[in-house]
Amino acid sequence: MRLILLGPPGVGKGTQAERLKDHYQIIHLSTGEILRGEMSALTSIGIQARQYIEEGKLVPDDILLNMMDNRLRQDDCENGYLLDGFPRTIPQARGLGKIMDDIGHLLDAVINLTADEEELITRLLRRAESSGRSDDTEIVIRERQKVYWTQTAPLIQYYESRNLLKEINGLGSIEEITERILDAL
Ligand code: AMP
Repeated sequence: MRLILLGPPGVGKGTQAERLKDHYQIIHLSTGEILRGEMSALTSIGIQARQYIEEGKLVPDDILLNMMDNRLRQDDCENGYLLDGFPRTIPQARGLGKIMDDIGHLLDAVINLTADEEELITRLLRRAESSGRSDDTEIVIRERQKVYWTQTAPLIQYYESRNLLKEINGLGSIEEITERILDAL
């Protein structure tokens, strides 16, 4: 199974990804987590990414595409993967398509988790109390929502026109949402 999880910040992509990963025995690749790891290890990617992340902006596409090109060729991706937080722009989606074609991987589905924006901001502010993330402040949270609607939401149409999109209501209990996703797949 090779899946993409789409949806605005705070909709619960990370939580659902952990559950789907166990269900399908595939790996969960969160570009946000990978980038935070690079930042704490002070690698060149981490140093380049820091300012964008702290301002709630997207890290440039070429950095993401190089990083994911390397990552998707590793052996642990052979049994399948779930991409969380990537792609985030149309050029990233096109780049991902090329990488997967090149490796010979087919994309099975794109899950789009949906929820109301104000509800998401409330959830993120709650998460901010314990996350320790430098980008979990109200200003940056609002900026990340804005970036999502302008730069990432066009991917919904992109994958819909390729017949890959599964729309899932992201409001409800964690178990209910997982059930909806598994039913749709
Ligand atoms: P996330 O943990 O997915 O909310 O990502 C946290 C931050 O990492 C985002 O606000 C971006 O600054 C950066 N980031 C993560 N994934 C991407 C991506 N695919 N493209 C650009 N920036 C990204």
